[in-house]
Amino acid sequence: MPTKSQPKIKRSFQTAKGMRDILPEDQAYWEKIRKVIRNLTRTYGFKRIDTPILEDKDLFVKGIGAYTDIVEKEMYTLRTKGGEKLALRPEFTPAIMRAYLENGLSSLPHPVMLYSLGPIFRYERAQKGRYRQSYQANFEIIGENDPILDAKLIQLFFSISKEIGLKEIITQINSIGCSRCRPAYRRKVVSFYRSRKKQLCVDCQRRLQQNPLRLLDCKESKCMQIAAQAPQTIDYLCEDCNGHFKNVLEYLDELEIPYILNPYLVRGLDYYTKTVFEFWPEEEEGRQIALGGGGRYDNLIKLLGGKDTPSVGFAMGLDRMINLMKAREIKVASKNRPLIFLVQLGELSKKRSLGLFEELRRAGLETASSFSRDTIKSQLRIANKRQARLALILGQKEALDETIIIRDMVSGSQEVVPLAKVVKEVKKRLKNN
Ligand SMILES: [Zn+2]
Ligand SMILES: [Zn+2]
Repeated sequence: MPTKSQPKIKRSFQTAKGMRDILPEDQAYWEKIRKVIRNLTRTYGFKRIDTPILEDKDLFVKGIGAYTDIVEKEMYTLRTKGGEKLALRPEFTPAIMRAYLENGLSSLPHPVMLYSLGPIFRYERAQKGRYRQSYQANFEIIGENDPILDAKLIQLFFSISKEIGLKEIITQINSIGCSRCRPAYRRKVVSFYRSRKKQLCVDCQRRLQQNPLRLLDCKESKCMQIAAQAPQTIDYLCEDCNGHFKNVLEYLDELEIPYILNPYLVRGLDYYTKTVFEFWPEEEEGRQIALGGGGRYDNLIKLLGGKDTPSVGFAMGLDRMINLMKAREIKVASKNRPLIFLVQLGELSKKRSLGLFEELRRAGLETASSFSRDTIKSQLRIANKRQARLALILGQKEALDETIIIRDMVSGSQEVVPLAKVVKEVKKRLKNN
């Protein structure tokens, strides 16, 4: 027996800060978006992959970059009893690449197209629409350099949005160059900001040494004013990056996808190269949280120990998409299947109802019951509350006669039918309505 006495304080529990429950009433939205993603990824040729929520902490430090907000401030880390240092995934991409390398997916024909659905965790400042556990759909096309894939991923986002009823969305796009042209650009940025260091916010003063490109997308107004004068990446792209970016934009034009060039978009993660993009609702562009975003990461797999494997991907925030659906009053048609309510009285009919339940279920009929209520009247009251279409009443007499009463819950009319024919009779009545 444990010697510690239980604390006598009476308390109630709540979700941890920044966490929330997704209640039954909201599930129709989640089902809808997941279904759309499953259908579209299939037609686009993606295969699903699920990776663990917990990974080696260093995978993210190395993959995302030590001097990023995610790694510095937002990642949930823990040390196991065995001493391993793990992290709750703050995003999918490094984990997917780890799985790609570990499971030999590199021997498959390329490009390898993978998608995932699941939660990610970030210790963010709690504010409206930001959750510390949020849900993402993540898409990766691994192993090809072709700019048409960048455009195709952007198209996929728009296909998903359209299918769930979201229009008036705009893509912000930029190219941040490659390992050949970025160093020169980076030097330009550093020298531009060095002379203005005192005017920067505290975070930016610190970032100037470690991750100077982050200064371009700081949301502090004083930093934004300075960024407006800063050198722009697209003026420093090498021929290869320039051609790649031009092609991406041409394909977007061809697909009639709305986009604007945002020279300050850098996405803040170390692994991006060339194309970076974000999706915003038109009415709140750049203001709060993007609906999704991604880009090309031609060096990531090599960085994680694989071969040079150019790749491109993006993630979509499902919470954000659903919140926008609600804000724009988009209805999700929840299929209201007619409910059958089974009322039983007495031990024999209770026994009979077990087989009947199974029979109705096999016929595809949604059936409910309330076994703990003992009077027919109280059971019918529950049937009414649950808006059942029909009630099937199996009393002591009916159980003996092998009959059952079908009650229309709308009109109140009742009819006795043989128990053996009940499924047929129920179907007939549902069809007539
Ligand atoms: Zn380049
Ligand atoms: Zn700043």
